[in-house]
Order: sequence, then C-alpha cells, then structure tokens
Amino acid sequence: MTLRNKVCIVTGAASGIGREIALRFAAEGARVAIADLNKTAAQAVADEITAKGGQALAVAMDVTNEEQVNAAVVAVVRAWDGVDVLVSNAGIQIVHPIEEFPFADWKKMLAIHLDGAFLTTRAVLPHMQRSGRGGSLIYMGSVHSKEASVLKSAYVTAKHGLIGLAKTVAKEGAKYGIRANVICPGFVRTPLVEKQIPEQARELGISEQDVVKKVMLKETVDGEFTTVQDVAEVAVLFAGFESNALTGQSLVVSHGWYMQ
Ligand code: NAD
Repeated sequence: MTLRNKVCIVTGAASGIGREIALRFAAEGARVAIADLNKTAAQAVADEITAKGGQALAVAMDVTNEEQVNAAVVAVVRAWDGVDVLVSNAGIQIVHPIEEFPFADWKKMLAIHLDGAFLTTRAVLPHMQRSGRGGSLIYMGSVHSKEASVLKSAYVTAKHGLIGLAKTVAKEGAKYGIRANVICPGFVRTPLVEKQIPEQARELGISEQDVVKKVMLKETVDGEFTTVQDVAEVAVLFAGFESNALTGQSLVVSHGWYMQ
C-alpha cells in the first residue's frame, strides 16, 4: 500500500481517468476526495470506494470557480487534517478549426484546463507547505502537451501550458518537498474520447472507424488505446515518489503515439 493514509484530491474523478485514479489510490490505502462538477456521480465513486473498505469523500467542485475550489480544499483539509496529493485532472474537449473557433469555447477550454490547474494548485500549496510533509502535484496533460493535432488549438495550447505550470511549481515547491509532474496520456477510451469520434468524423469528412484507426491510433506502435489503468499506474508512481529527484517532469504513456 504505497499511499497509506495519504490525503489525495482528484478533480474530475467522477468519470474516466480521474475515476480510475481515485479507485487505484484508495486501493493503495489513500484517503481520496472525489472532486467533480457532477456531485451525484462523484458520490457514486466515493460509495464504490467505501463499499470496498476504502476511505473516500465526494466534494462538489467546479475547478474554474475560485470560491468553490477554496471551499472544497478547506473541507478536505478539515476532514482529514491536510492534503498530500493533488491530481488536477478535470477536463473537456472542444474541437473546431481555428478560424471558426468561438471565443467563448476557447475561453471555456483555457478556464477548465489552466485556471482549474492554477486554482487547485494555489489552494493546496499553503497546506502542503505548513504540514512539513511535502506533497505531490500531478497534472493531467496529454500527448497534446507535446504535439499538436488539427482542430484542437485550445486543447493543445492548454495542455502545453500545464508543463510550464508544473515546472514552476517544481521550482517554487522544492524547499518544502513539494513535487510537480505531468502525465501525458495518448488516446484513452473515456466519455471524452467517445464524444470526439463522431465530431471529428464530421469535421474531417471521414468515417468514425477511420477516426479511430487513422487519427487516434495511427501513430501508436501497436494500434492500441492507452487504458485508464495505464494512466493510474503512472499516477501512483508520481504520488508515491518521496523525493525531489522526480519533479518538473512529464511522462508520456501512449503506446508510442508520441516518442520524445
Ligand atoms: P471524462 O469526460 O471521462 O471525465 C472528465 C470529468 O471531469 C467528468 O467527470 C466531468 O464532470 C469533470 N469536469 C468537467 N469539467 C469540470 C469542471 N469545470 N470542474 C470539475 N470537474 C469537471 O474525461 P477523461 O477522458 O477521463 O479526461 C480526464 C482528463 O484526462 C482530462 O484533463 C483530459 O484532457 C485528459 N486526457 C484524456 C485523454 C483521453 O484520451 N481520454 C487523453 C489525454 C488526456
């Protein structure tokens, strides 16, 4: 149990990658706050964890809302006396060609991915600094933190930005034993990706099958999707790594979709 009793906040944990990280952290002995816009779905994940004997708490949080983020973090810190790990994972996808990208959609994308990462980081840092236990901040980047794809200007911009934030947190946090790293998954078959398949087929004028084969998996070494379990495994590594030797890094887990 590599995360025994560590207090972990996972945003966007009601679904997909965040949900699997929450389940896996709980199985590793962590106390996990399931923070999500969708409180009912977050509660269902918390119930699933407690039914298995784990420790979990559902908290309502829109990561773009400063008051909600601060209040949710304070609630977790009060309940469990601190916070050791933040996984800033909440995210959405909106695709358009740049010249047709509505400004409102652009701002929404940057708000969820970047404001969300900033606000949750700013809310947890003072508690990690005070505790003397250090901490681990994990940002959910993407292969799109390293590479671009057509139609995804806002997503690619935001995901590249997370690497800059993580490197800065790594430098500012080092003296407190606070580490920051980015996980960069390839395509994972979650609701976020399922929604994109018909959208991209429409925009690119190709079949849904071709979106999967020729867009999402074409560059992989074996034509396979990355799984939520693959991503959770890397999250456990970053969360449990106890020294500043592993900080300011971004790790691609993508079946070779992107190689650095
Ligand atoms: P998902 O749609 O399954 O889950 C996203 C969760 O985030 C949902 O529970 C949703 O309610 C929550 N959420 C959305 N907006 C929110 C907000 N403002 N505040 C709080 N919660 C909010 O998606 P997923 O595929 O699991 O994606 C999770 C993260 O992984 C995202 O950051 C995404 O960009 C990243 N990612 C996904 C893939 C992939 O292929 N699925 C690949 C690389 C990176």
